[in-house]
Amino acid sequence: MEDAPRYPQRLGRNIASYQGETIDIHKLLRDVQQVAKETGWQPIPLVVSPELELPAFQRVVARPRKTIYFSSGTHGDEPAGPLCVLRLFEENAWPEDVTLFVIPCLNPGGFARNTRENEDGVDLNRDYRSRKTALVRAHIRWFEQRPRFDLSMCLHEDWESHGFYVYELNPDLQPSLAAHIVERVKQVCPIDMSELIEGREACGGVICANRYLGTRPDWPEAFYLIHHKTRLSYTLEGPSDFPLLTRVNALATGARAAFEALQ
Ligand SMILES: [Zn+2]
Repeated sequence: MEDAPRYPQRLGRNIASYQGETIDIHKLLRDVQQVAKETGWQPIPLVVSPELELPAFQRVVARPRKTIYFSSGTHGDEPAGPLCVLRLFEENAWPEDVTLFVIPCLNPGGFARNTRENEDGVDLNRDYRSRKTALVRAHIRWFEQRPRFDLSMCLHEDWESHGFYVYELNPDLQPSLAAHIVERVKQVCPIDMSELIEGREACGGVICANRYLGTRPDWPEAFYLIHHKTRLSYTLEGPSDFPLLTRVNALATGARAAFEALQ
């Protein structure tokens, strides 16, 4: 029998909001850009205005088996996501026959303030239907210039959760990747086994969010993706009340597990 993994202690530090480490997002994005350049990714920036471009990258292969999109940094108080993206670029162990599109950070203004919302106090991850923000409008223009995706992933954190969990949107009931993601992440990070997470029914660290697709007015990015760009979406949630390294390991392990499980 395998030994049960030993997890780090919960920090108990996050009360009423995220109270953990912050990152220098501009340095991190420069680092991602440098590694991406050295490892053959093409820049395809997301142009918000003449003054603001967000880094984004593609790695296009001839006759791709699958096309995958992932994004991070939508909430500025969730540093593990952009750190995970940098880690994945540094590891440079991408699936060979897959075309990838990556946006490392959608909300640099929020990271500069360590706030969930952007610099104008707007939660970008509630704006993909109303499209009040220039950034989300620019993101949708960017999406419209890309092909459809077989899989999308959004990397997030939750300061209240008892462990890692994942939202699945899979309206056509394709083979689910969720159990494989959770099984792999369990090796490096506790899983939130609550039956109710963020007010939604959960089972074994997985929230099946299909039932909310038709009813929720304030679309997060994943809802836009399901309605317009893909039929399979996972939102990975790292638990912010655990050490930052544990959360980065959890998100990176979850992302790699999804790559390997996508048949
Ligand atoms: Zn988030």
